[in-house]
Amino acid sequence: MSASLRNASLRQLAFLAGGLVALICMALLTLSSLREWGLRHEALKAAEVDVANIAQSLVQHADDSFELADSLVIGLVHRLETDGIGPGAIQRLRDDIDLRKGTMGRVRALFVYDAAGRWLATTESVNPALFNNSDREYFKQHRASLDKGLLIGSPIRSRSGGQWVITASRRFDHPDGSFAGVVLATIDASYFADFYKRFDLGTTGTITLIEKSGIILARSVDNETSVGRDVSSTPLIREMDARRPAGLYYFRSPFDQTLRLSFYRLSDRFPLLILATEAKDEVLAPWRQEAMIRMALVLGLVTLIAGTGIYLVRQLLKGQRIAAVLAANEADFRLLAEESSDMVMRIGLDERIIYVSPSCIRLLGWSAAQLRETHALAGVNGEDLPRVRQTVRALKQGEVEETRLVYRTRQREGGEIWLETALRATRDPETGKVNGVVAISRDMTAHKDLEQKLATLAIKDGLTGLANRRHFDDMLQQEWRRAGRDGTSVSLLMMDVDNFKKFNDQYGHQAGDSCLKTVAKAIAAEARRPGDLAARYGGEEFVLLLPNADEVGCALVAERIRQSLETLNLAHALNLPTKRVTLSIGGATTWPNAETQGNHPLLIAAADRALYVAKHAGRDRFVMSGQVVAWRGAESA
Ligand code: GH3
Ligand code: MG
Ligand code: MG
Repeated sequence: MSASLRNASLRQLAFLAGGLVALICMALLTLSSLREWGLRHEALKAAEVDVANIAQSLVQHADDSFELADSLVIGLVHRLETDGIGPGAIQRLRDDIDLRKGTMGRVRALFVYDAAGRWLATTESVNPALFNNSDREYFKQHRASLDKGLLIGSPIRSRSGGQWVITASRRFDHPDGSFAGVVLATIDASYFADFYKRFDLGTTGTITLIEKSGIILARSVDNETSVGRDVSSTPLIREMDARRPAGLYYFRSPFDQTLRLSFYRLSDRFPLLILATEAKDEVLAPWRQEAMIRMALVLGLVTLIAGTGIYLVRQLLKGQRIAAVLAANEADFRLLAEESSDMVMRIGLDERIIYVSPSCIRLLGWSAAQLRETHALAGVNGEDLPRVRQTVRALKQGEVEETRLVYRTRQREGGEIWLETALRATRDPETGKVNGVVAISRDMTAHKDLEQKLATLAIKDGLTGLANRRHFDDMLQQEWRRAGRDGTSVSLLMMDVDNFKKFNDQYGHQAGDSCLKTVAKAIAAEARRPGDLAARYGGEEFVLLLPNADEVGCALVAERIRQSLETLNLAHALNLPTKRVTLSIGGATTWPNAETQGNHPLLIAAADRALYVAKHAGRDRFVMSGQVVAWRGAESA
């Protein structure tokens, strides 16, 4: 699988995992929300049923109460209309009513008023003569209306007891049908209020008994201040005619502004209705509390899942990023290694080639496939091999991290090239142990050749090709030390072309140069032993260093040089008497010892002195330090 494909599928996997986690979280949240909504609905439903049941039974209770009151009122009306209101009849009535005291249950009191509102009789223990009720609303209504039905009036403050009472009254007539008075039964508003308090509708639940036109008759809460209050402007009452006789009703309470769940129920016998309410907040409070805990748990779970999901997706994406970086690294490495003119090689701990870049064919003549698995040091020149092997070993053992080597190695065609190789130990990223060596090699052959050339230039004289003076000095020092160690001799011949100034004058400077070359060649030909060194000492002066030679050897070599010049027979018209190029030669031999250690100029000075002597003795001759050797027979210096 390619890196990009692997990356794409990793990315896809990350998105898939992320999507799945999001889906699970959403499903969890949705399911729990739905469930909570359902539970909330159930809580409301249960409360609705409660208030409905209460309203239902309390309407029944109100009906019963007013029926009881009405039956008492009807009884009295019937009796008054039958017996009339003569003093005797009234006295009998009063006695009768007195007897009923204490047996009327929820009915608080009974009153009989005449057509003028005067009290004719009452169950209350007051003096009836003191009161007149003609100003009461119900009284006025009865007097004005022929309707003989029951009138449930607005609550009033009792004239006898001072408490809130609800009135149920009927008119009674004279035999001629004219208004004779009113019979009234009262029920204490607090009776209903106390009764309603027995029903559990939570701390904020209320039960209210309302007269159909909108006057509150009794209320389970704050009865004292609520009774008589006009709520006819509330939507419930205003729209009552259009409503069904019973039903659920949500509203904002005009008393405490709380949102209330309620059930109202109209009485079908009296103009009354019961309204049972519960604060919606209170109904939902237990659910809310539990829901909060449940949702907190669900949210915790969702957070956990989401957190885990995000972590996993991140890991996947990180993996993908790492894979991408690795792929890019690999591509970069390949590009560098494969396009480089340098030869990149990875060597295992067994010193076999694990990888080699294609440029090996250019450098070594072998293809990468041919080199792979072969021994990395197989082609290294035998002379360089110990050094190379030691370096590689040091890298493998972790003694050296990186180093540089220049060595020769064989090519396929049998040639040899110089390689400069940068070597670096590679380490396992996990264990940190050396697991191989990377070698980057470049062809140094051209460089090496140049180096060689430069080295040669540094020690050779440009005109004659002999060693230059500096190199001569170095070699002399070296031989001086060696001879001192070995107890052997060092000899030196110092030569100067005779009358060379004149040669230049006669034949020109160029001819002079070529003459010097020829002479130098002749001198160099006599440097026959390995340590012998011919050098140009300066101008037309040459030296020949002869290690391990003595005076006899010096004379022999000097003579050979003279002979070869004679054979060359280079014309020099002004060099009399031979009229050819000749040399004057000064020779010196010493056995360096502890005393003369480092004092090699001694030898030069001695040879120079001998040369000076040779010149003054007439040129074209050899003078040994301490003696003069003329070509034709020896001369002493
Ligand atoms: P002698 O040594 O016999 O005393 O006489 P001479 O003419 O050789 O004297 P001297 O050594 O003083 O002169 C050396 C001359 O060699 C001077 C210079 O013109 C010439 N000469 C030195 N170096 C070169 C060179 O590289 N090329 C040429 N053509 N001439 C050189
Ligand atoms: Mg000279
Ligand atoms: Mg000279």
